[in-house]
Amino acid sequence: MEEQVVAESTDRQCVGCGVQIQTEDKGKPGYVPRSALERDPIICQRCFRIKHYNEVAPVSMDDDDFLRILNGIGATDSLVVMVVDIFDFQGSWLRGLPRFVGSNPILLVGNKVDLLPRNINLNRVRNWLQHEAKERGLRPADALLVSAEKGIGIDELLIRMGELRGLRDVYIVGVTNVGKSTLINRIIHDYGASELDITTSPFPGTTLDKIEIPLEDGRVLVDTPGIINRDQIGHMLTPGDLRLITPSARVNPKVYQLNDGQTLFLGGLARIDYVRGDHQPFIVYVSNRLKIHRTKLANADQLMAKHHGELLAPPSGDARSDLPPFSRHALKVEAGEPRDIVISGLGWISLTGKEAAYLEVHVPRGVHVGIRKALI
Ligand code: GDP
Repeated sequence: MEEQVVAESTDRQCVGCGVQIQTEDKGKPGYVPRSALERDPIICQRCFRIKHYNEVAPVSMDDDDFLRILNGIGATDSLVVMVVDIFDFQGSWLRGLPRFVGSNPILLVGNKVDLLPRNINLNRVRNWLQHEAKERGLRPADALLVSAEKGIGIDELLIRMGELRGLRDVYIVGVTNVGKSTLINRIIHDYGASELDITTSPFPGTTLDKIEIPLEDGRVLVDTPGIINRDQIGHMLTPGDLRLITPSARVNPKVYQLNDGQTLFLGGLARIDYVRGDHQPFIVYVSNRLKIHRTKLANADQLMAKHHGELLAPPSGDARSDLPPFSRHALKVEAGEPRDIVISGLGWISLTGKEAAYLEVHVPRGVHVGIRKALI
């Protein structure tokens, strides 16, 4: 009698993350128990857990695989939609994209616009987005602002996508956590094409392999995996701490009137020393849940030594020891135009530019600190 062979790796893909489904190894991407193989659509155990229990089992894609996928885009005739997180622009920038896309047009999408404070001029933000892209060597055909989660700007996005793609495929690219999966879910819903739901989570690395979603004209929308941008502070934090620093609602700017010789702590993740300059407002744009402490610069070392992980949290308690050591960035903010001091992954602090300001910013090593033209 012929023995029945049960396939260990299948040719089916998880509708959550796009990875190939397998039944062999629980620790590897795409695992489902054999009993779940009959389901249609099929979702891997990892995505299932994220979806239903908000639990994460990290699986990584290595950079080579990712580059291979990106490299392939240049050889296609397609529209490339690049998604960035407007709240963490620096940390969510996909480097090297101009090299990979060839002559394909790029539509730049700034997601999470719902987090920006009320009453801001979105046209300005859009121009700012174009400007920052240009500074990084990218010349998008257009730049749009959306909120994938709240459904803001999606109609306009679909129209622009339709115009720019003509009869081409669409590749959606972005680093992890910019909201790419959430956006694709939106697009799918608004195309009315499918009941598929792609897994979303606040943790990096949810989308594992590329996934193709058919469009009505026979073309496809390709979801590429997000690569981890190692500048992102999220990679140094526990899931609980990451949730705390990730804004989940519109950010309320907080204004601190500082004299030089004062320090602001953003939780225990960043310390901003105002070393020299005139009395002026520091406007802080970070998650509303992140506690800010003001102290004298002269007391800052001691406060940090004594209270890091407690009063100054996140990182909370033991997670402190997983952080890289702090490094110091000396900055001069010139008088003139308003400027933002950006701490990648946390947010930014605006100075009005009325006076020059000398600062020292301490953050875990590897976290990017920079100065940019003010967003707001
Ligand atoms: P991906 O890794 O780029 O696919 O990102 P996900 O779609 O998994 O989203 C990452 C995190 O960002 C999740 O916590 C989402 O809830 C959140 N997110 C996605 N889109 C938006 C948005 O438009 N606004 C806000 N505030 N959060 C969003």
